[in-house]
Amino acid sequence: MNDINPKVKSRRQFLQVAPVFGVGALGWLDVAVAQDAILKDSDPEAAAIEYRTDATQVEPSKYPKYTKGQNCSNCNIFYADNGASTGACGIVFGKLVAATGWCTSYEKKPG
Ligand code: SF4
Repeated sequence: MNDINPKVKSRRQFLQVAPVFGVGALGWLDVAVAQDAILKDSDPEAAAIEYRTDATQVEPSKYPKYTKGQNCSNCNIFYADNGASTGACGIVFGKLVAATGWCTSYEKKPG
């Protein structure tokens, strides 16, 4: 006889499934962190965000949003250890970006 309240059953199902999704998410993060391919200016995904490996080569006349000193290392969605030459970017999947890079989605790190 199955006398489980449907809501309780749903919660039980959620609790059974949630860790699977949690493990899946962590697995994805592991893949993201373990990546070693570095985004190149010539990659299609770089073109989509107009990424440049060397921010000092960005032409301010072409990219008015760019100001001197902006680069991936001080972008709000760059994730790396302090001083690392490459890191993960929140909008680039499967490849690392150069700390010296820049793209049109640059967002200044607060503080
Ligand atoms: S979003 Fe930020 S970290 Fe990512 S490529 Fe653009 S400038 Fe670099």
